[in-house]
Amino acid sequence: MSGAIPALHPDRWTAPFWEAARRHELVIARCTRCDTPRPMPPGPYCWACDAGEVTWERQPGTGEVFTYTVVRQADPAYVVAVVALDGIDGVRLQSDLVGVGPDEVRIGLPVEVVWDDRDDGTTVPRFAARTT
Ligand SMILES: [Zn+2]
Repeated sequence: MSGAIPALHPDRWTAPFWEAARRHELVIARCTRCDTPRPMPPGPYCWACDAGEVTWERQPGTGEVFTYTVVRQADPAYVVAVVALDGIDGVRLQSDLVGVGPDEVRIGLPVEVVWDDRDDGTTVPRFAARTT
């Protein structure tokens, strides 16, 4: 399935994200100097204050659909969404939506992370409609 977060080549800036994913924990980087969240993948410098260091904070893994695209080249068609995460302002992740078809998706749909453990040993976060 395409559409999940594409960066499966961990480097210094994304390795903590993928290590946490293997533990089924969603983490997002935050600037240690000014507390500004870094979008994924975090660049080497904070866009707000140019500091380099970040801390990785565990997130609840819930959010809502900010916007979405229906991919109709595939059969069946599937939905790729930009998810606005709860608990950390301004950080959004792109993912395909698991179990949510083009007729069911809407802006603001509550979603939660689900973990896709792959045969190559990586784990990829995806999002499904929130059940709780
Ligand atoms: Zn900063």
